[in-house]
Amino acid sequence: MALGVKKAKDHCGYEPKPVLPVCGNCAAFRSDMVTPAWLVKDYPDGELGGKPLSYYAQEKNPRCADHGFAVKKMATCRLFKEKEPTK
Ligand code: SF4
Repeated sequence: MALGVKKAKDHCGYEPKPVLPVCGNCAAFRSDMVTPAWLVKDYPDGELGGKPLSYYAQEKNPRCADHGFAVKKMATCRLFKEKEPTK
């Protein structure tokens, strides 16, 4: 006989939103939020569609602050560091 859904999830340790040990979740991960230059040039009043241009910023230059190289957010290494919990 099958277990109920809750019991089955408890049994297997189901985690719907896991924090994976990847660079994007690592305490050493850094990146820059960059507003595209063409937006800044074309919208000198600093807003577009009622939103500040920073709303349209894109994440650039993902890197590892501990080891000094560019990384992919879904990559990982043996020295992954868990972030401090936010207060
Ligand atoms: S390379 Fe390792 S230490 Fe650096 S950000 Fe990625 S998981 Fe963290």
